[in-house]
This record gives sequence, structure tokens and C-alpha cells, in this order.
Amino acid sequence: MIPIIKPVMDEREAEAVRRVILSGWITQGPEVAAFEKEFAAYVGAPHACAVSNCTTALHLALLAVGVKAGDEVVTVSHSYIATANAVRYCGATPVFVDIEPTTYNMDAAQIESVITDKTRAILCVHQMGLPCDLAAIVALGRKHGLPVIEDAACAIGSEVQWNGAWEKIGKPHGDIACFSFHPRKVMSTGDGGMLTTHNPAWDQRFRLLRQHAMSVPDTVRHGSAQVIFESYPETGFNYRMTDIQAAVGREQLKRLDEIVAGRRAIAQRYSELLAGVNGLVLPSEPAWARSNFQSYCVWLPAHCDQRAVMQSMLDQGVSTRRGIMCSHRELAYAGAPLRLLLPRSEAAQDTAVILPLYVQMSAEDKQRVCDALVAACRPIRAAA
Ligand SMILES: *Cc1c(COP(=O)(O)O)cnc(C)c1O
Repeated sequence: MIPIIKPVMDEREAEAVRRVILSGWITQGPEVAAFEKEFAAYVGAPHACAVSNCTTALHLALLAVGVKAGDEVVTVSHSYIATANAVRYCGATPVFVDIEPTTYNMDAAQIESVITDKTRAILCVHQMGLPCDLAAIVALGRKHGLPVIEDAACAIGSEVQWNGAWEKIGKPHGDIACFSFHPRKVMSTGDGGMLTTHNPAWDQRFRLLRQHAMSVPDTVRHGSAQVIFESYPETGFNYRMTDIQAAVGREQLKRLDEIVAGRRAIAQRYSELLAGVNGLVLPSEPAWARSNFQSYCVWLPAHCDQRAVMQSMLDQGVSTRRGIMCSHRELAYAGAPLRLLLPRSEAAQDTAVILPLYVQMSAEDKQRVCDALVAACRPIRAAA
């Protein structure tokens, strides 16, 4: 059976965990601080703050820019449901725009049509690792005085061309970027998340809110020669990352360039093997974007039924996933009025299929995946 993804971990991660377990400090301590510093350096960000996962990162990002009850946040429905849910955690309403037909990313041309005096932020997504149109989205944010938060859950190691140079997603190019280290993403800490920003005040805010708004971090109290009494001036959260997770993250970061290069090479091989399939639309990158290929997503030919193709591939020993699901179609969002129809988001959910992709794949595995897809897409011939 070929799975959809496999984490890239070995003795190095295991040894890092062992080191932390035996160190006597196992949550939000020196390993988290070191991981933050190394992550910030990797993406080129002035500040990075580690949290428990990307959903909590999105929540803190929205709170930091001032999203509150009754506000609206412009985002996409075509994303993992955590994107929209994080807006709801603030008591605000996600207002959905459609995606572009070729990139599965937010259509910047629709943003202005949904902005009202309640709009407080734009939450864009680098879907499946492909950078969204940041130049256009950030320009609109600036024009309307709206902060831009990047849901970069899938996009660690992806790059965008900015003023002529290639830069890592997370610098950030908007105001705050949020990353995920779930095992379905390109690097993992089991669960985990990271916020990056240029704004030192927001970075302080993340650090306060991730630990119950406690006035003194544990590390400071532990290292102080004076007795320190902490206080809790507001309601915070427990969104801490453990040192065990951070130690794994530091090892993963060392492998990241290799993982991304490997994923890009597999994506290229898939595109070669599938180039001749009639009606199949392969992923493409705009000239200014380089994806980490967190997912390789194909749009099926018109005659294919998504479930039938996926079942046929499963029968041939190949796992797949359907296209990214739309939040507005889930029961949790039933009754929430749409400001725009989202035909491209819905079609992508119903027509696209995500293929397995992990760097341990052999040449034979890649061939098997493509052969299985080609066989599954073959038009059914009438019985003789
Ligand atoms: C995975 C994902 C999230 C949620 O990340 P967690 O770390 O699991 O909370 C949010 N947004 C997008 C686009 C994702 O793919």
C-alpha cells in the first residue's frame, strides 16, 4: 500500500527527544527558544513564536491584529476548516471569496467586492504549499488599511519572488504568517505551530497569550535570584509547544531543504509521467512562486467520477485524498450566508484528487501511482 505521506524521521529525531527527556526541562523552555531562533533565521523573519499547532497560531494572529466579536475576516472556504474556525474563535465571521481556477488559491480580484466597514483583516492561504498572490493581496490590504495574515500551514520551505529576489514564505510578506508541524505537512513535530512577524509588539502578545497571559515566563522565573510573583491581567490560553516537540522540529529544520528538493523532484517526475493523459490538469506554478509540493493535486478529466477514481486507485494499492474541502459546505457552517457564490472552490473539492508524495518513494512507487491513475481514468468501454 502506498500511503499519502510519510514523515521523514530517524535516529536523529529519536536522539533529540531522548536528550530533552533526560534534561529535566520538557516544556516551553530552552529547546523552544532555540527552535524559534533557528526557524526565524530559516524564513528570514525578525520574530518567531512557537505554539501548540497552526490553528492556535491563527487564533493568536487574528487576536493580535485586533479581530473581535462582530468583525469580518476575508478568507477562502476552500481550505482546511481550521482557517475559518480560527476566525470564529474570535467571535468574528469568515467572509469567503472564491479561488483562482489554476492555483487553488484565493482570487485577489474578488477581495474588494466583499470588504465592508466590519472587515478587520485578510486571511490568505498558501494552499497545498503553493504561494498565493501575495503581491496583489498585500497591496489590497495596504490600500484598505487591513492587516494580512498568511495561513502558511502547508508552506514551510516554499518561496516567492519579491522585488526580484526569491524569499521564503514566512518572512512574512504580509503581517503575520502561521505554520503547522502536523505530520501531514512537510516537516513535523507530531503537532506544533509557529507564528512569524516583523512586529515586536505582536510577538510579545503571542508570547503572553500562549501561556495564560501569565506576566512572567517560566524561564525567567526559574532563572531569577529574586522571588517573583506572577499575575494574570487578562484571559489567555494554553497554546504552549513542548521542548520535546521543539527538539524534533530543530532536527526537521536541518533536513528541510533536502525534503523540499526531494518533493519538488517527485512532483516534476509525476508531471512527466502524466503529461499525456487527456483532460487531466496537472499542478502549475506561476513564474513568481516555488511550491514545496506539500500536496500534488490533479484535476480529473471531465468523464471521470472522483470517488470511482479514488476507489480504483485504492484497489490498486494507492492511497489518495479528494480535493481540499470547502468549509461553507460543512454542517458547522450551514446557515451562514455566503456573500459570493463559490463555484470554483466547489468544483475543486469535487473534481481534484491528491496523489501520494513522500521523499522515500522509489522510482517504482512513482510509476505505480501514475499507472494506477491512468488506469482509473480510462474511459469505461462498453462490454463486447
Ligand atoms: C493543516 C492546516 C491547518 C491546521 O494546522 P494544525 O497544525 O493541524 O492546527 C490550517 N490551515 C491549513 C491550510 C492547513 O492545511
